[in-house]
Amino acid sequence: SSPSLAEAEGPAPIAGWRHVYSGKVRDLYVPADVVAAGGASALRARGVGDALAVARAVLVVASDRVSAFDYVLEPGIPSKGELLTTLSRWWFEQLEGFANHVLSNDRDVDSIADVPPVPGDVAGRSMVVKSLDMYPIECVVRGYLSGSGWVEYQASQSVCGVRLPAGLRDGDKLPVPIYTPAFKAELGEHDENITYERTIELVGAEVAAQLRGLSLGIYARAAEIAEAKGVILADTKFEFGADRETGEITLADEVLTSDSSRFWEAAAYDSGDRTASFDKQIVRNWLAANWNKQGTPPALPPEIVEQTAARYRELIERLTGSPAA
Ligand code: ATP
Ligand code: MG
Repeated sequence: SSPSLAEAEGPAPIAGWRHVYSGKVRDLYVPADVVAAGGASALRARGVGDALAVARAVLVVASDRVSAFDYVLEPGIPSKGELLTTLSRWWFEQLEGFANHVLSNDRDVDSIADVPPVPGDVAGRSMVVKSLDMYPIECVVRGYLSGSGWVEYQASQSVCGVRLPAGLRDGDKLPVPIYTPAFKAELGEHDENITYERTIELVGAEVAAQLRGLSLGIYARAAEIAEAKGVILADTKFEFGADRETGEITLADEVLTSDSSRFWEAAAYDSGDRTASFDKQIVRNWLAANWNKQGTPPALPPEIVEQTAARYRELIERLTGSPAA
């Protein structure tokens, strides 16, 4: 079942754009005239998939919302949307040679006649992207054993069907990076680790192989770039979609941000300290210690919010060499 069109009480309206969907962290808009042409009520009946399918461009607005264990927490992290958008944009630029969905890096936006302007107050935390047919797979690559990979390894000595050597510890580097896909759950449900064979059933052998190859290739390139800045890219998650005109498998969503990846401080790791991370591990750790996963998660204390924002800024500065907003 496809998610329904977002209700009127969704995020702030943006002139020229129509809100169609909100995930845990991002809000999606399509050009307002697309919706008008299709008829808003007709689209509401058919669901958000149709709104995205008829629109060539999507405005992805990153909010300050933070999620952990698939729950959206309170309060948000100030400037998070802008910080993660800055980082995602920077990575798309670094990943030359891998087709991506960005239309707003001055490259193709002039050639898209029906894209409304993006208001200045939204620009910093948003991207105009090509509307793709998304694959329902979270393409996870792990160079190190951590998180749900570590949990699965302890139970079965494998992750997503990939057999690993015995005796590995939490945070250990893997002999080679591994592809450990997850099925992308509907809003409110939890993503589920799956085997490679299951991805073949979902998208066919050819696409499954391409998704795996692209994911491992992008991880290798990104890990090399990060390593040169003293940062370990422990693991990451990509999402891909097919270009509706050419069919080309295209890198979508956000890439290599502190929401989609684990980044560790290399110097600390090498000296045996495996706690120095630039991602939302601070949030996960606090939540794990203060919540039993029953009912609504407790509000994050101000110092956790501040520490998380500071780590996000530090990562951007380390990687890009420029001060974060
Ligand atoms: P869910 O979609 O289940 O809510 P999520 O919480 O990860 O997952 P967000 O990351 O907040 O959602 O929202 C971003 C949404 O936009 C995702 O569903 C993602 O698949 C989708 N998306 C990203 N890039 C594109 C694109 N180029 N075309 C269409 N959809 C896209
Ligand atoms: Mg997401």
